[in-house]
Amino acid sequence: MTRFRKGDAGRWEGIDPEPYDAGGSDDPEAPFRGVSRQRLFGPEEGLDAALRYFEVEPGGWTALERHRHAHAVVVVRGRGAALVAPEVREVAPFDLVRVPPGTWHQLRAADDAPLGFLCLVDAERDRPERAGPDDVEALRADPRVAAFLRP
Ligand code: MN
Repeated sequence: MTRFRKGDAGRWEGIDPEPYDAGGSDDPEAPFRGVSRQRLFGPEEGLDAALRYFEVEPGGWTALERHRHAHAVVVVRGRGAALVAPEVREVAPFDLVRVPPGTWHQLRAADDAPLGFLCLVDAERDRPERAGPDDVEALRADPRVAAFLRP
């Protein structure tokens, strides 16, 4: 069944934004800012996968995390940057971001633009591991990554 878009890009009839952290972590201090998540397609459609739409507010960022499942990300709105350690790239609509299993990753919106992206994952997947202080310190050893990560 078609679900029509609602108003501006990034919202759909009958799909409510979910708390970003619901499936990821029990940690109320999980380090992210200004992220919404909407489930677009999933097992209800007979898929063994889920396609979600995430939108990060200007100046916001997703959690710095890794997990055994992979992500296939398609940027569709706004501007920002992606860390797929140790690579850091600026991203804009229609860029594709591949996050291999076990790779630290984070997406940031630009300070003056949101970042909207589609993210494809396995329907059954492991829970993310958040980066701890030691992980962040190790990542910062790479100057490109250090420049991407905020204090
Ligand atoms: Mn992830």
